[in-house]
Amino acid sequence: MLNIVIFGAPGSGKGTQSEKIIEKYGLFHISTGDVLRAEIKNGTELGQIADRYISKGQLVPDELIVDMLAGVLDRNEETKKGVIFDGFPRTIPQAEALKKMLAERDTEVSAVIGLEVEEEELVDRLLKRGQVSGRSDDNLETIKSRLEVYHRQTTPLKDFYIQEQKYRKIHGSGSVDAIFDSIAEEIDNL
Ligand code: AMP
Repeated sequence: MLNIVIFGAPGSGKGTQSEKIIEKYGLFHISTGDVLRAEIKNGTELGQIADRYISKGQLVPDELIVDMLAGVLDRNEETKKGVIFDGFPRTIPQAEALKKMLAERDTEVSAVIGLEVEEEELVDRLLKRGQVSGRSDDNLETIKSRLEVYHRQTTPLKDFYIQEQKYRKIHGSGSVDAIFDSIAEEIDNL
């Protein structure tokens, strides 16, 4: 059973590459950002709280995210066939919670695919996406705070997963298909 974490800064291509990974490997996709945006759209209590953090480019508190993720795993039988985690974990406590949740389900993270892209390119891509996404956080000011939050709170996870020998570095610039080929090579070698 494959459980893949797709890891990288905002704009590194996690969503795009997740779609291709699902197509080839048939994994269940969990994007915490997508789940939160659905909560906001449905006007739930979680959505109302999350909206305040997302619109400022800050992370939603760990307990809320971890509970939300556990709910998605419990509600969806298909997750037992393997999952691609997109946008989660984003902090060390989330990574520890994920390890525990998967161990309780007799499984573990198979690999962390780290998409590495230059900062300037990230900003360019996010600004371009902002012209069509309608997302409240794809504007220059919020993009800057999301990247700052990424460096401060999320990059320590790279060392966490290097220590666990799960981190696979992928050069995330170039054509979508060429990047996907490098990812598939890593997955096929697991
Ligand atoms: P994304 O769609 O992955 O770029 O996420 C958009 C926003 O949702 C982030 O900037 C955070 O505010 C929030 N978010 C998504 N995933 C998480 C997470 N794992 N932990 C905390 N906040 C998250």
